[in-house]
Amino acid sequence: LLETRALNKRFGGLHVTNNVDLVLETGEVHCLIGPNGAGKSTLFRLILGEHLPSSGSILFGGEDITAFKSFQRIRRGMSVKFQVPGIFKALSVRQNLEIAMQHHYEPATLAEEIDRLLAFLNLSGDARRLAGNLSHGQKQWLEIGMAISLKPRLLLLDEPTAGMSPEETHATGEMIKRLNADGMTVLAVEHDMAFVRQVADKVTVLHLGKVFAQGSIDDIVADEEVAAIYLGQTTAH
Ligand code: ATP
Ligand code: MG
Repeated sequence: LLETRALNKRFGGLHVTNNVDLVLETGEVHCLIGPNGAGKSTLFRLILGEHLPSSGSILFGGEDITAFKSFQRIRRGMSVKFQVPGIFKALSVRQNLEIAMQHHYEPATLAEEIDRLLAFLNLSGDARRLAGNLSHGQKQWLEIGMAISLKPRLLLLDEPTAGMSPEETHATGEMIKRLNADGMTVLAVEHDMAFVRQVADKVTVLHLGKVFAQGSIDDIVADEEVAAIYLGQTTAH
């Protein structure tokens, strides 16, 4: 579904994305891991078109989208939940979803679609609460809800479980598995290895902007060179 070919991104002298070849097959859940500063979020921004690459190309559904603007990529079925929160705190949960969905559904079916999405997100009882008053985990679910509200073919999730309890993390994994069973392809940046084990068909390790290793979660966990790149990190992963 998605392919990056020799993708490079430089910020001044800093080579943040270094010849990245990444292939996402339709229907897979692919997790992207790697130490802080490895270039994971930058790769997301390149895929979504928020940064233009210094060189290389990106294919989506076989089409070269390298020069496409973000909105063109979204129209073709890409969606993202960024690391930085994007919900409207002063609006209710339902209003947030209405904003994301109102131009894409008939008025007659909008309420029904929102109800279905709220149930999926375990937020049915919280529809009228202000988004700013939700728990941290519920805010993340609302963000995932906004990202999936237009039923994308490819969902990019940057640290969807950051700050969640183990129970919330597990529930998030179940959501992603259900989305995937319904046909959504997912690329998730994730630090929680229990979550990666729960959802991932394939894992790519990014280090210093390069694809450092790739395989199943068992391959990656057993890889001593992968373990070594995390040593000396100040943040625990
Ligand atoms: P984390 O796990 O902390 O989220 P990451 O793997 O997502 O890290 P990026 O945010 O992609 O890493 O950053 C990779 C490197 O690129 C870092 O050294 C960062 O400082 C640098 N960088 C990112 N965006 C910019 C920018 N707009 N201008 C200059 N440098 C940038
Ligand atoms: Mg990041």
